[in-house]
Amino acid sequence: MIIENRSDIYYRVKESLNSECRYKESSKKEYFLELILNRIEKTDIFYIESWKAKNSIKLLDGNIAIIVWDINFWKYYEEYLIQVDICKSYDKNITQGVISFMFSFLSKKYDDIYELSSFFKQINTEYSINDQLQRESNKYINDIVLLSKIFALYHEIGHLKQMENNNEIIPYKNLVLDLFDPIKDSRLSYLKEWEYLIKETAFDIVTGKKNGKYILEEIIADLYAIVQTIKFYQEIFKEEMFQIIINCLQSYEYISGFQHMFSTISSAWENHNFEIKFGLPLKQHSHDNYVNQLAISRNEIGGHIILFVLKTIYHLNEVDMTKILDDLDKCYVNQTDIINCLANEQFICTAIQEANMKY
Ligand SMILES: [Zn+2]
Repeated sequence: MIIENRSDIYYRVKESLNSECRYKESSKKEYFLELILNRIEKTDIFYIESWKAKNSIKLLDGNIAIIVWDINFWKYYEEYLIQVDICKSYDKNITQGVISFMFSFLSKKYDDIYELSSFFKQINTEYSINDQLQRESNKYINDIVLLSKIFALYHEIGHLKQMENNNEIIPYKNLVLDLFDPIKDSRLSYLKEWEYLIKETAFDIVTGKKNGKYILEEIIADLYAIVQTIKFYQEIFKEEMFQIIINCLQSYEYISGFQHMFSTISSAWENHNFEIKFGLPLKQHSHDNYVNQLAISRNEIGGHIILFVLKTIYHLNEVDMTKILDDLDKCYVNQTDIINCLANEQFICTAIQEANMKY
């Protein structure tokens, strides 16, 4: 997409990024993302490599949008998938594997703070389970990464379309609201401890109260993204429809799980950046329940909604659904223990103190 006054716009994007994190521009371009964005007006993509490892949207004049695409986020995502794949293939403990991987990420994230970085590197080595199992990426992982990127781009486009109240997005919104309405009053005891959260969230979404508005926006963006990803995949790769749906849902399962874990831990540490940088006394921050609830609701409820809608659109029968759910189970990574450990305030403060004493 050609945008007028490109240099002026990019100057403003860079200025805004400078205030957020260390980063460098990247000259790598992603072919499929460019292909998608060429069809979208007033939206462009800016590739960076940042220490924050986070994608974002910059809105300029409420009219032009720049999607900031962080190559580092995707590099870590691929490393994570390789780690999970190794653990599954060699029957190793996934929680340990992912924790070790996250320490390697934290060691690079804080590579300008010698004590912390060395400490993390040491833990990464001690916990590492794949010394002898170094494995490269493979075709399955490459496909998951590509589909996840396409999904993530469409997710951001889904946000943009909601901001401009685009006609294309309104049916998705109505569909989600129609689905949530009965949830808030129905019995969902099979969801066990999730029942209360899901019913409460459904109530907030339908009434637009508390965080309902934001959760709704995330779910609509996800739903829009998965439908668009399936369409795009079919157009480009022309595979059999059922296989396309399975591949897309698997990528969704991986990327949404990773995103939740990675951003929860990353932002828990970022809360302490100031203290770390200036050697200030550490204080435990209170947990941001909003972020947590948003992520959990998006993952848990969003997943169910997506399955339900795809079942309707593509006329999937019970046998298809069983096969899809079995395949999704294989991709499921339980992130609870990893998050409870690495995003725990007491753990973070103790780790920073120990790093300062040791190095
Ligand atoms: Zn989003």
